[in-house]
Amino acid sequence: MLDRITDKLTDITRQFTGKNRITEKNIEDAVNEIKVALLDADVNLRVVRRFVNRTIKDATGEDVLRSVDPGQMFIKIVYDKMVDLLGDSRQDLELKGPDTVSVILLLGLQGAGKTTAAAKLAARLKKEGRNPMLAACDLVRPAAVEQLSVLGEQIGVEVYREETKNAVKVAKNALKLAKKKQYDTLIIDTAGRLQIDQDMMKEIVDVREAVNPDEALLVADAMTGQNAVEIAKAFDEEVTISGVILTKFDSDARGGAALSLKSITGKPIKFIGVGEKVEDLEPFYPDRIASRILG
Ligand code: GDP
Repeated sequence: MLDRITDKLTDITRQFTGKNRITEKNIEDAVNEIKVALLDADVNLRVVRRFVNRTIKDATGEDVLRSVDPGQMFIKIVYDKMVDLLGDSRQDLELKGPDTVSVILLLGLQGAGKTTAAAKLAARLKKEGRNPMLAACDLVRPAAVEQLSVLGEQIGVEVYREETKNAVKVAKNALKLAKKKQYDTLIIDTAGRLQIDQDMMKEIVDVREAVNPDEALLVADAMTGQNAVEIAKAFDEEVTISGVILTKFDSDARGGAALSLKSITGKPIKFIGVGEKVEDLEPFYPDRIASRILG
């Protein structure tokens, strides 16, 4: 994951490690190389420009150039700016206590990994001591309800389903049942489409109004790069999202979506999907990813 950009930036930072004299020209050259690496990683152009300007501004000050270990200071500045791009600090889910039902709504395009993410999230919350239930409200993709039922069984989490095409009804009934059975978290899988579509948006807005979620998480495919960022923007404008689950991070060699999402949408990446299995979901730590990218 992120292999290409990691290889390039590791090379660049290596040139600076242990250097006790660097010039403004050295820094400009390195920042230019980083710029090329970011663009090659499919990072949004506005984000790249902002990164470059801020890095040059901080790195060409006298205190860096005249410091004892300017190479290390430069690398630290690049690292800090990278953490900023990725979203500063880890953003956890904001859920209520165990006495009421917290609702997590998952939305996104078909194939992004919503149904898989719903089960992964349920498995994770269960492991953390919560008591989750799943609701199968993707009534558009033919196999989605069955897929969620199978996954629910596998992880030992109840899946609420109904024979209907009315997602709002299923969501409302699922919430009623979750309250009755004293579950503390309801995770709702919703229907996507192959692309942004007004019917889909209307359905999600209606479900959102019916269940008033604590978290509305966009599930986006990291491999689609800038497209994932555009999709996040569009969903946020129509539905208002609280964060993103970036899936298929394991297969994303470039990293453009991860590096652009927060700056462009203002919304944090809360989790990354790192494989097809139910346990393949990790919290997103901007500092750890930045360290990995810089080698
Ligand atoms: P949905 O249409 O959004 O509900 O998408 P699915 O949950 O059915 O996922 C679509 C495909 O992506 C399936 O083949 C999943 O196994 C796969 N998938 C989902 N998340 C990940 C992930 O994090 N990594 C990888 N490699 N594959 C994933």
